[in-house]
Amino acid sequence: MANRRIHPKPQIGDTFGALKIEAEAEPYVSPRGQNFRRWWCRCKCETLKPVRETHLLSGKIVSCGCVGRENSAAARVLTTGRPRESGKLSNQQKQEMVNRYLAGESTIALGIAYGLTPAAVGANVQRRGGKMRSLSDSHRKLALNEAAFSEITEASAYWIGFLMADGASIETAST
Ligand SMILES: [Zn+2]
Repeated sequence: MANRRIHPKPQIGDTFGALKIEAEAEPYVSPRGQNFRRWWCRCKCETLKPVRETHLLSGKIVSCGCVGRENSAAARVLTTGRPRESGKLSNQQKQEMVNRYLAGESTIALGIAYGLTPAAVGANVQRRGGKMRSLSDSHRKLALNEAAFSEITEASAYWIGFLMADGASIETAST
């Protein structure tokens, strides 16, 4: 844990959402002269696009643009490890998910199972009249979800690190 690198350098062949790195690209140089490493990425739809490394690692860019542009896309990839593949959940799946929450599973674990953000899991529970557990109740459940939770912690650490790095630079160009 202590030696975990917060800034792993991506490698050719690594995948981020729908993107797979093929080669290093020319860096993007901001108006203030900052250099940002970029990678040529092949989207699963075959489009080739240069993407900033910080945007890959933060989850800000998960495809050439074909996967969907919702604000929650980055959060979904980080919490579930993948973009949601097959559209919306059926009502039956949502009800099953809510039942599992009410039976004691966490929004994090269910988010991973159903390809949603934890917040979206919670919204579904409330929409169906379920009561959310308090944070202290949830903490008691964490032991049950240890495997899922350690995965999140690692992803979140990357995300927070890059949001802090990226959030400090103000630019308007998108690549
Ligand atoms: Zn694409």
